[in-house]
Amino acid sequence: MLIGLTGTPGTGKTSTSELVKARFGYRVIHLNKLIKEKHLYSGVDEVRDTLVADMDKVSAYVSELVNDSDKITVLDSHLSHYIADIVIVLRASPDILRERLSHRDYSQAKISENLEAEALDVILVESVEWCEKVFEINTTDVTVEEVATNIGEIISALLCEDDGAVIRKYKPGSLDWSEDVF
Ligand code: ADP
Ligand code: MN
Repeated sequence: MLIGLTGTPGTGKTSTSELVKARFGYRVIHLNKLIKEKHLYSGVDEVRDTLVADMDKVSAYVSELVNDSDKITVLDSHLSHYIADIVIVLRASPDILRERLSHRDYSQAKISENLEAEALDVILVESVEWCEKVFEINTTDVTVEEVATNIGEIISALLCEDDGAVIRKYKPGSLDWSEDVF
């Protein structure tokens, strides 16, 4: 079973997925690293200072990795909702996101672009459009440990095919940060 862990940069995908791996033993693929290492990109976006992923290559590579096993695989990437049918979207208020991203060597423009994307629910909207099941976790006022616990709860429910309660608990759409940027 492939579970995408998506969200705007800084929402906590990588740190949380590392903890999920340590605590529950699920396999985690850090997709950005894989894209770089396996050359799954078609070019470089100079303006955004990122690699442009070749999504056909990425999808094929991930399918190959996961199709041979029933193991749970968590895909850590802001692109994972293009690949997985089940996704967990991590969210963080723009204020908190600004604080978290300030520790990175991002340009002001790149930080602003990410804050706006979060305020406008860009990744959530894409996820709802692309995926069968979408769960949302607000990481604003909770620790990485608590977020990992939430993810464990969602995955356990999916595994025992009794996910009604978690679907209600992590239903997307309750957050509104549209007035919080600018
Ligand atoms: P992403 O992989 O989504 O870009 P990271 O996992 O790299 O995000 O987290 C970005 C920063 O925010 C890191 O410094 C991390 O320690 C911090 N962080 C992530 N999740 C939380 C959280 N729930 N509470 C507090 N800080 C967090
Ligand atoms: Mn990351």
